[in-house]
Amino acid sequence: MRATKAIIHLDRLSRNIAAVRTKIGAKPLICMPVKADAYGHGAVPVARAALEAGAGYLAIATVDEGIELREAGIDAPILLLSIPLPEELPGAAAYDLSLFIGDREFAEAAALAARQAGKRLSVHLKVDTGMGRVGCPPEAAGELAAFIAVCPSLELAGTATHLAVADSPAETDMNYTREQLDRFRSAAEGIRRAGIDPGLLHAANSGAVIFHEEAWFDMVRPGIILYGYAAPGRTPEVEPVMELTTQIAFIKRVKAGETVSYGRTWTAPRDTMIATLPVGYGDGLPRRLSGNLQVRIRDALYPLAGRICMDQCMADLGPDTDIRRWEPVTVFGGNAPSAADLAARLGTISYEITCGINKRVPRIYRH
Ligand SMILES: *Cc1c(COP(=O)(O)O)cnc(C)c1O
Repeated sequence: MRATKAIIHLDRLSRNIAAVRTKIGAKPLICMPVKADAYGHGAVPVARAALEAGAGYLAIATVDEGIELREAGIDAPILLLSIPLPEELPGAAAYDLSLFIGDREFAEAAALAARQAGKRLSVHLKVDTGMGRVGCPPEAAGELAAFIAVCPSLELAGTATHLAVADSPAETDMNYTREQLDRFRSAAEGIRRAGIDPGLLHAANSGAVIFHEEAWFDMVRPGIILYGYAAPGRTPEVEPVMELTTQIAFIKRVKAGETVSYGRTWTAPRDTMIATLPVGYGDGLPRRLSGNLQVRIRDALYPLAGRICMDQCMADLGPDTDIRRWEPVTVFGGNAPSAADLAARLGTISYEITCGINKRVPRIYRH
């Protein structure tokens, strides 16, 4: 196996789930989002570990992602968060994926697919309370629930919304979330007034698990905190699950004034030892981190020298080093800066870093 690997610490995932459980108490179910191959961590092993650690639901974004879990033998409820094409609905029905439904036309298509598959499909009514992505207006929830209730092939198992700004404690954002939650409660009330049980109520992403107890309802859907990226100084305390590691492939001495890598953007300020690492943007390590990344070897951090290439990058070990070829290197996670630190340097979010580590990088699961 190649030197570059993503170590997936499933023991940390279990502890992160336990930390969320401690925070939210015994009642709400935990839905583990495993979309985008579990934020890049590997959907099937993460789903299994999450269910073992007490998650009751899984969430995905495409029908194919759900089929992958079912074919691996996972029989927990799986929620499809995004809207598939009508022609994907027979697959969703055949594999018992629960659909988010936010409009009448899609409800009809889902009912038909379920009927043709000879199934009673569980669905969750999705209310758009201010995310502006998918879902029905809060005031239309009762009518949509009434339609779902008269479809014999559909079963209303839950009612959900998604929060747009829950991850910031800033005052104005707190207010927006409170407004969203008010609209959500009134949507649920509208469903009850129509004589229908809204099922499991759920709204909370990671930010709302951290900041908004009133959003926890019957189930929470925290993704990024379960992968180990949370608000510093807040509960739950979590640890990053993914660690990107490699080994030094080559070491050489470079003289003062010589340059390293494409574009000759880096010139050796003094004679120094340069290590070549077999990891690059072709693995999903963002090239824009060139000049702004330090890797960990033993107990120190060493800066990259020059541009990150497709398959390799170079680190400056300094003039006097006894570090040897093949020694292990941590690129992020573990005892190196985390994916969240890298993301901050790039003006993005940790999700994009872990999702970006692609299939060329083998995942090694630690229990
Ligand atoms: C991705 C997603 C989540 C999880 O969000 P995090 O920010 O990772 O906690 C929850 N709900 C929905 C609908 C999502 O799409």
